[in-house]
Amino acid sequence: RRAEYAQYRNMPAVSKDGVAVKLYMNAGLTVDLPHLDETGADGIGLFRTELQFMVSATMPRLATQIELYANALAAAGERPLIFRTLDVGGDKVLPYMGAQREENPALGWRAIRLVLDRPALLRYQLRALLIAGAGKVLSIMFPMVADVAEFRQARQILEVERRRLERLGRPLPQAIRVGTMLEVPALAYQLPALLPLVDFISIGSNDLLQFFFAADRGNPKVAGRYDLLAPAALKLLRDICAACTAAGVPVSLCGEMAGRPLEAMTLIGLGFRSISMNAVSIGPVKAMLRGLDVGEFRAYIDRLIDGPDRTLRGKIESFARDHG
Ligand code: PEP
Ligand code: MG
Repeated sequence: RRAEYAQYRNMPAVSKDGVAVKLYMNAGLTVDLPHLDETGADGIGLFRTELQFMVSATMPRLATQIELYANALAAAGERPLIFRTLDVGGDKVLPYMGAQREENPALGWRAIRLVLDRPALLRYQLRALLIAGAGKVLSIMFPMVADVAEFRQARQILEVERRRLERLGRPLPQAIRVGTMLEVPALAYQLPALLPLVDFISIGSNDLLQFFFAADRGNPKVAGRYDLLAPAALKLLRDICAACTAAGVPVSLCGEMAGRPLEAMTLIGLGFRSISMNAVSIGPVKAMLRGLDVGEFRAYIDRLIDGPDRTLRGKIESFARDHG
């Protein structure tokens, strides 16, 4: 099947009715980087920087961080690459950081919350990113932002680091683009305040929908109970996408659902023109896209989304079947 999808590598990611969709891949370690060329992905929509910290027995040094980020930028070349700052804490506990067991790790002291309380960790990482990005376009986003103030604070720390390097006469990135993950439902209701501040938004549907349905994404007892193709979830995603698009802010979605052809098709029907997924999904999703009539499918979803169905999965599946 891999070989079968390899033929799609050099084909454009365009639907049957001419709608172009950017297909980005998720990455986090040096071993992921060759997949960019192998899959023909448009770039890296989510670079999970915590993976380097998690596979390491001690805190990665500045030089080690710089090396990984520089390798990733070199592999991406002209293609966009978005680094996400450390998403640790909660269930991603770093042994060398002093483990803290929490009652509700997903809702706990993690990601942006942790690094805003321990800004040295964030400053160090941002320094590594700025140094690695010298002369290039550097895109950075923050995880688990629940409140616009957290975004402002994180961006302020980035600015402090940028000024520091400037003062030292170090070469800086050619451009710095700063965005945020949208993976806490509360942030979806702060878009009027958030959108003027960000260069882009990436929806983390894994977390966003686990919080939306209050269902642990890793607990098999409840994970199957709520469908991501339920109208309530689709309206949330559609509305976020529409608000970003209307404001001219690039929006993408980088959770696992982007890599499943039926879900990816639904996202495109809801208005997404950029999604980021595991490397192995690029081929199957592109194959789906090239056979899809986006206009027709969008009209189909629009008719169903306010209807009584508990989930649209069955009907979306039959659309996919009936249209090859
Ligand atoms: C997400 O929450 O959808 C996401 C992409 O981040 P992670 O899976 O790393 O939490
Ligand atoms: Mg997440």
